[in-house]
Amino acid sequence: MTVSTLTQGVLAGERRALSKAITLIESTRDDHRAQAERILNALMPRTGGAVRLGLTGIPGVGKSTLIESFGLYLIEQGHRPAILAVDPSSPVTRGSILGDKTRMEMLSRDPRAFIRPSPSGGTLGGVARRTREAMLLCEAAGHDVVLIETVGVGQSETAVAGMVDLFVLLVAPGAGDELQGIKKGIVELADMVVVTKADGDLADAAKRAARDYANALHLIGRADDQGNVPVVTCSAATGIGIDKIWNGVSEQIAAAKIGGAFDIRRGRQAKAWMWDEITETLISDFKSDPKLSQSIGECEKLVEKGLMAPSVAVQKLVGIFKR
Ligand code: GDP
Repeated sequence: MTVSTLTQGVLAGERRALSKAITLIESTRDDHRAQAERILNALMPRTGGAVRLGLTGIPGVGKSTLIESFGLYLIEQGHRPAILAVDPSSPVTRGSILGDKTRMEMLSRDPRAFIRPSPSGGTLGGVARRTREAMLLCEAAGHDVVLIETVGVGQSETAVAGMVDLFVLLVAPGAGDELQGIKKGIVELADMVVVTKADGDLADAAKRAARDYANALHLIGRADDQGNVPVVTCSAATGIGIDKIWNGVSEQIAAAKIGGAFDIRRGRQAKAWMWDEITETLISDFKSDPKLSQSIGECEKLVEKGLMAPSVAVQKLVGIFKR
């Protein structure tokens, strides 16, 4: 497929074209990268229209089950959700995140939804870059809700919170007081907390967990002073409460749009993205600069043996790079 056929295909909302375009983005080949950039450039004016949601929670909290249920709910409401996963090369979590698409069987079969598992491997910076670009492609393809899933155990949460309009933390009932091994930093990133599995024997525990989280969040307070973080309970199994998630999201987005916080957040994110790109590009240029091919190795060895201070090595290498 040529670049322009792919671009047209994405715009027409064809899933195959969207998949292929994302594959180009994920490729490490220079020619693929160049094609991906042309596609992105052409599609840029058609992006930005989706509600961008981050969703995190430790393995077992019920992410796949909830995304299936939430995704189908969104479709029922006339939306076209896209689901992307971020899982930078972690051997601990590999396979647990969207690895098994059959866990979202109905959603993945629905032509109105688009599900993309995490690209394997790569640095966090690289994964974040590909995810942002994949998000833009999904928007150009007409997906009006983009959900980015992470596993809630690493640093990828900060990266994802930095590219979405709203960051949702999923927690399971039963262990609200100890925050379930979730790092405090992740709780602080949350714009909404969802207690999962609020059904059957767990219904009461879910209510207690919701209360505990609401109290804990109240104590933490929000640096940006945007008011209290809502805590909702839901059950993906029965479907009860799924609508509360979307209602809560819609309310927060509407309020942020009226108050101006929405545009400020998107603007700040775009600027941070630019700087991430600058960092990535410069490092990649630096590492592949033929003038440096020998010196980098030499300096690394000397630094490793303690024979050269890292700062001296940097001065030397940057000096050669700038020549
Ligand atoms: P993930 O690892 O976060 O993606 O979690 P899963 O979606 O795979 O769910 C983990 C376990 O929790 C599975 O055994 C599910 O059947 C169970 N589970 C998920 N959602 C619910 C729910 O709404 N109610 C109940 N009772 N169990 C659930």
